[in-house]
Formats: sequence, C-alpha cells, structure tokens
Amino acid sequence: MSIPATGWSNKGGTGERACKCGTWKQHWINFSEKAWPATCSVKECSSAPTLGAHVKNQSVAGERIVPMCDSCNKLGGTFTLKGSITVPSANKSETCEKKA
Ligand SMILES: [Zn+2]
Ligand SMILES: [Zn+2]
Repeated sequence: MSIPATGWSNKGGTGERACKCGTWKQHWINFSEKAWPATCSVKECSSAPTLGAHVKNQSVAGERIVPMCDSCNKLGGTFTLKGSITVPSANKSETCEKKA
C-alpha cells in the first residue's frame, strides 16, 4: 500500500470524541508503533506536534491520523506530509475498537 505525501487536507469540523486509546495522539502511537515525533508531520514545519489530527487524501481510503502542531491543524486547502511519517487509520472499527 503506497501512501502519497501530497494532497492531504484537514478533515475539519470535528467534534469527534476520542477513541478507546484516550486521545488521538495515543491512537497514533498505538497504531504507528513508533515514538511520538519531535516535529509536526507537515513538510517544512518544525513545530512540536501537540495532537493527533484527522486528515484525508483523495487517493487514500478512509481518514488517517498524523501528529500535528496546532497551527497546521488549522490549515485550509492541501498540504504535503513528510515522507517518513506513518499514517494509521482513524477508523476505530479497523483499529482500536476492532471486533475480534
Ligand atoms: Zn484508538
Ligand atoms: Zn505544523
């Protein structure tokens, strides 16, 4: 499965409650199986990420979670992610609330 770096946008308008992980930050940590990064996932942003943001991409199925800083989480339009970032699914039924 290949995930493009370009063409991402914030889902926006979320009042969505966190999942079983407690926070979307923890959800990212659980499903990326990586340590929380030192910098935001948006290319050329060097701020510290503070939250797990819901993002989407036309060529990727479903919403994804990426570590992001507050200001990038308010970006309108599309942005490019750092190539190295892991983008676990935000779909609870495929991740933390998956039925056995
Ligand atoms: Zn979760
Ligand atoms: Zn940022």
